[in-house]
Amino acid sequence: MYHDLPRAATFWAFLLTIDQDLADTTRQKGCPCGGRLHCANYLRKPRGAPVRLTAEQSVRLSFCCDRDDCRKRATPPSVRFLDRKVYLGVIVILVSALRHGPSPRRVHELSERFGVDRCTIARWQVFWRDLFPQTPFWKLARARLNPLLNIASLPYTLVATFVDDENSDTSWARLLRFLSPISIPGALQIKLS
Ligand SMILES: [Zn+2]
Repeated sequence: MYHDLPRAATFWAFLLTIDQDLADTTRQKGCPCGGRLHCANYLRKPRGAPVRLTAEQSVRLSFCCDRDDCRKRATPPSVRFLDRKVYLGVIVILVSALRHGPSPRRVHELSERFGVDRCTIARWQVFWRDLFPQTPFWKLARARLNPLLNIASLPYTLVATFVDDENSDTSWARLLRFLSPISIPGALQIKLS
């Protein structure tokens, strides 16, 4: 069972290298119009990291098509940033999971520790409970995991499935990588049928 986030600075550096790999794959594919992708990163100010992030670690990698009549943006999946949330993805997952674990931590305690206010935590709960299970990503992914996984306690069940304390860095990275398809802007849009 997990207890905490990896605290070593190497973990955050490791996440950046995974993002760079994911970005390379996106760049190599190029734009659907046939254009080449040029670097067009966003500077973010991610919150919640237990260590001081470097400027490089605070950048959301992204590209822009080089053709004048296109200029479309292509943002690769990320293991650091979840959707457009200000907090690092790992914080959004951990704080939400702690609310569902075997000994739910009080909102007050979580707020103090991660600097996330009550309203934000409530919004994340809605995200995991109402939005996430409706995404095309989850509908496919669920079949690959245990189909009986309890969606009422997401993301706790995901953390419990992926993360082990012995290999905290690599197991967290595996979970973040698994969830990375939903980090692409627009990936969470849900079709109402
Ligand atoms: Zn293009």
